[in-house]
Amino acid sequence: MSTRTPLIQRSQELFERAQTVIPGGVNSPVRAFKAVGGTPRFIARAEGARLWDADGNELIDYLGSWGPMILGHKHPKVQAALRAALEEGTSYGAPTEREVRLAELVLQAYPSCDMVRFVSSGTEATMSALRLARGYTGRDRIVKFRGNYHGHADGLLVQAGSGLLTAGGGSARSAPSSAGVPQAFAELTLVADYNDPESLEALFASQGPEIAAVIFEPVVGNAGVLIPTPEFLEALQGLTRAHGALLIADEVMTGFRLAPGGAVERLGLEPDLVCWGKIIGGGLPVGAYGGKREIMEQVAPSGPVYQAGTLSGNPIAMAAGIATLEALAEHPPYAQLEAYGQALQTGLEEIARSAGVPATLNRAGSMITLFFREGPVQTYAEAVGSDTEAFKRFFHGLLEQGIYWPPSQFEAAFFSAAHGEAELKATLEAAEAALRNLAAG
Ligand code: PMP
Repeated sequence: MSTRTPLIQRSQELFERAQTVIPGGVNSPVRAFKAVGGTPRFIARAEGARLWDADGNELIDYLGSWGPMILGHKHPKVQAALRAALEEGTSYGAPTEREVRLAELVLQAYPSCDMVRFVSSGTEATMSALRLARGYTGRDRIVKFRGNYHGHADGLLVQAGSGLLTAGGGSARSAPSSAGVPQAFAELTLVADYNDPESLEALFASQGPEIAAVIFEPVVGNAGVLIPTPEFLEALQGLTRAHGALLIADEVMTGFRLAPGGAVERLGLEPDLVCWGKIIGGGLPVGAYGGKREIMEQVAPSGPVYQAGTLSGNPIAMAAGIATLEALAEHPPYAQLEAYGQALQTGLEEIARSAGVPATLNRAGSMITLFFREGPVQTYAEAVGSDTEAFKRFFHGLLEQGIYWPPSQFEAAFFSAAHGEAELKATLEAAEAALRNLAAG
């Protein structure tokens, strides 16, 4: 792997062109490198654990398309399923067998859910699950946690994480966190602190009868990785039950990544509704929400809660999702991902320690964040106390050496079943050079 500054002329040209026709030159904010500066790489192709940018530079990928690519890029089974589906047609606006098959695969993995509805993004999944929770309970208020991100629906852009922590229209500290979200909408969203059971208790004590649902990331990826404490999870489960509010696990990032049954399986939770995205679409646009029959039957056309989509259950997207979930079931990669994660974690911790760089590594399976501060990092406030200047230098140090780490301190890095010894070695060598350089000032 070259340590010379790579040529990125083509990416620079494309970024300039893009900025004249697309706001910020990108179709999703974090891609613009606003938090770290510099020119985003335009990607030309991918295979396994690697990306190639528009100038032909090879990169080891720790984005995994922000989560979907758990099998690595261009997995043969997924590619074959996509080719077969394409031969048949691309969209009908009428039901297909593939939707039934993917629904069965998702539900098999989540015993707490009897039914699922497919949509086209994680945003739609959480937005629809909240409408359903309100329709089912007849209550209007919802609770979310500071620094959790659930997509960009109006009521969820309140003290939100991910790109809202580094870019966008408003301050992450004020509610709402985006321009264009009416205060009246934001007022229906109550905000508690993640890993702070008392903050949740206080909301239920004052407004319990009005709370339709609590939505949460069962392992946070969108403030960087935060691991829930057992006391926090107990409070979530107990308080929602005691007050008749629904517990909505947003597994858009964690579903099928942390275990076949997602984070809720790993953590022993029993949510009333679950949201999925990313992996269940195998790299194509898919989201979903599901839960107990009694609740899901409130959704149109069985019930009064309206929700629809022209491309929902799209046959090409379903084909990629089915192939991905089948491949995960046939050859579960979870032990291998854990081993890779453990080795990456130990390596990075050791390098940071010996370079004398204050850092804390949080990891759940194949989701990992190196926070540039002393630990522990368990809360949103602790995460945002990280040294983002140090992160920037780490990020660019890695990128110059061909390691594509997420371009923000407040995101999870993802790796896949295609990451192996060669990727691990190259990543740790690059991290060592980057952190030594950082320590040298
Ligand atoms: N929920 C979580 C936990 C997410 O991480 C994301 C996206 N990163 C979303 C919801 C929104 O999904 P999408 O970007 O597909 O709308």
